[in-house]
Amino acid sequence: MADTIFTKIITGEIPCHRVYENEHVLAFLDINPISQGHTLVIPKEPAKTLDQLSDDSAEALGRSLPRIARAVLAATGATAFNVLQNNGLQAHQAVFHVHFHLIPKFDDGRTDAGLGIGWKPGALARDVGASLAKSIAARLTE
Ligand code: AMP
Repeated sequence: MADTIFTKIITGEIPCHRVYENEHVLAFLDINPISQGHTLVIPKEPAKTLDQLSDDSAEALGRSLPRIARAVLAATGATAFNVLQNNGLQAHQAVFHVHFHLIPKFDDGRTDAGLGIGWKPGALARDVGASLAKSIAARLTE
């Protein structure tokens, strides 16, 4: 896989404002934050998208995310946060190395700071839902 800018951050070739690191995970401040404390949490494994990630990296990320989120909340005074995780061009992924955005929200009038979400809910027909759930479940292995 071709190196991305995040590989260069992991190796130290490019600097970052690091907030956490262990064997599998690195977290650092986003260079173009959409709110104070906007942090990226990445696996050291150079998987492009979440569906390509190994169980070891997934487990390490799952353990690290809540801990890093608590630290970001405590350090910034944020009262809420979004976790954003983009996979693929159509999903607005710009850097093709798995990453989770931790994006704080504040209740002090900074209403424009943080993630805005466009969400147009549809309706799930009973037969469509049953068939789709069965199809997805059949593709899941232990
Ligand atoms: P995404 O659209 O989910 O792929 O977001 C990629 C994110 O990486 C953006 O929010 C960028 O601001 C951030 N980013 C890109 N280069 C760097 C860098 N050198 N240091 C920190 N964050 C970066």
